[in-house]
Amino acid sequence: MTLQPLDAIQSYHAHIYFDGPDQRRIAEVLREEIGERFSVLIGRWHDGLVGPHTRPMYQVAFMPAEFARFVPWIMINRQGLAVLIHPNTGQPKADHLTHAIWLGEILDINASSLPDHHEPEPEIAPNTNPTVKP
Ligand code: ZN
Repeated sequence: MTLQPLDAIQSYHAHIYFDGPDQRRIAEVLREEIGERFSVLIGRWHDGLVGPHTRPMYQVAFMPAEFARFVPWIMINRQGLAVLIHPNTGQPKADHLTHAIWLGEILDINASSLPDHHEPEPEIAPNTNPTVKP
């Protein structure tokens, strides 16, 4: 058995999925609220399917130091949206399929687009300027 150290986790992604116009409106509000509360890198909207994802979504990337604040907050505020949270350890296939946690509905992940190994992720440069206490 080979165990990985915690510092194998370079960063995390939360993928916020939405299905249809009602859920997209919820996703829009959540996106604003996340940006007001957390130091994260919010990715662009993917209204079409991209990468291994089988439902429209946007990505929220964050450093390990933000995990203990952001993940509990999205647990209790996701308003029924499916959320995938996965670490980035340089193993995209395992990170999405084996190391991930799901909130709500568990969606299909298209593993054929995920390599086994990947260069280390760059450090996350947040694009938010939080002013609201979570
Ligand atoms: Zn991701």
